[in-house]
Amino acid sequence: MLEKMNEYARLLVEVGANVQKGQTLLLASPIECAQFARMCASAAYGAGCRDVEVIWSDDALSRERFLRADNAVFDEVPEWSRRLYNDSAESGAAFLAISARDPEALKGVDPDRIKRSQLARFNALEPFYSAQMNNVVPWTIGSVPIPSWARKVFPGYHDREAMDRLWDAIFETVRINGDGRAVERWHEHLDIMAARTKKLNELHFKTLHYTNSLGTDLTIELPKDHLWASGGATTPKGQFFVANMPTEEIFTAPLKTGVNGVVYAALPLVVNGNVTDKFHFVVKDGKIVEAHAETGEEFLKAAITVDENASYFGEVALVPYDSPISNQNILYYNTLFDENARCHLAFGRAYSECIEGGESMTNEELEAHGLNQSAAHNDFMIGTADLSIVGTTVGGEEIPVFVNGNFAI
Ligand code: ZN
Ligand code: ZN
Repeated sequence: MLEKMNEYARLLVEVGANVQKGQTLLLASPIECAQFARMCASAAYGAGCRDVEVIWSDDALSRERFLRADNAVFDEVPEWSRRLYNDSAESGAAFLAISARDPEALKGVDPDRIKRSQLARFNALEPFYSAQMNNVVPWTIGSVPIPSWARKVFPGYHDREAMDRLWDAIFETVRINGDGRAVERWHEHLDIMAARTKKLNELHFKTLHYTNSLGTDLTIELPKDHLWASGGATTPKGQFFVANMPTEEIFTAPLKTGVNGVVYAALPLVVNGNVTDKFHFVVKDGKIVEAHAETGEEFLKAAITVDENASYFGEVALVPYDSPISNQNILYYNTLFDENARCHLAFGRAYSECIEGGESMTNEELEAHGLNQSAAHNDFMIGTADLSIVGTTVGGEEIPVFVNGNFAI
């Protein structure tokens, strides 16, 4: 067990953030993952890291704060926090976030407080978020179990058993099986995804038409010079990194005003510490004009109205229904895993690498090229076993991209 944990920590540090000698690592972790965070810090120092700065978080304290702190604090971000994130990004630090949360940590909290806090944070830390979204700094997200989350994923088991099951499931998603060869397997995996990404780029689709039996009937126009991406990215200084571990998706950005129709969620979504389920969006000229959810509608509505552009889409991602995480048949209630089990879209901001030359464009230039800019970026899962996606090329040729939930190209 400890060996596997150490292997995952090394994987995140050496392949994920790919921390370089002399570089500083900013490590964000829940306090419940302290043991794993220490392993990550140790792996980072082992890789020649200059320093590891740790930012601890705690579900219980964060819930208490949202429920009881003075109302004004949700519009504020302290100066030290701005300096920590923005200065670290500016000085070229690497970032590693451990994503583990009680899916219902903020149940019963006023959605307006969450929304304002998200917006305040985005505005204050804009240089940091831009550096991430534009691949200026290396960053990665990994995840390890905590009891509140494990209980939600494996209800009916004792804490210990649920934790063990979640650990095993996570190790499987990140290709760790105890033989110490995960790094090799990751390089093979990244190569396979790169080959399919290249193929999608050569096809130059103008539109993608999604249909399935849930009721999805959505047409997505892609920007003229869009690029598909997957797996890893490279900073301007040439540092290759893998932003999500696991990752199974190949993604690009939609044309901001080019999405029309209706799209149904295929899985529940945890948005800001609340579960929302059985929802659909009606979309017109790129904008979500109607949002309905059987569970958590107010939190979904808060998420798509954080700012004006949160109700436009910023990501189109392809994941086969028959793929490693999907085949585990586990609902993780954590987007890092659920998004890598299903085709998904994101409402909110687009990644600048999704357009030719995008990484050196300003936010205004990206917006002018049709890439949405927003404080939000929330993936939600839409892939099903019967999903069909038909691509139409710039030349007008129709090509099946997905048939029965899986790649047809
Ligand atoms: Zn995604
Ligand atoms: Zn995303």
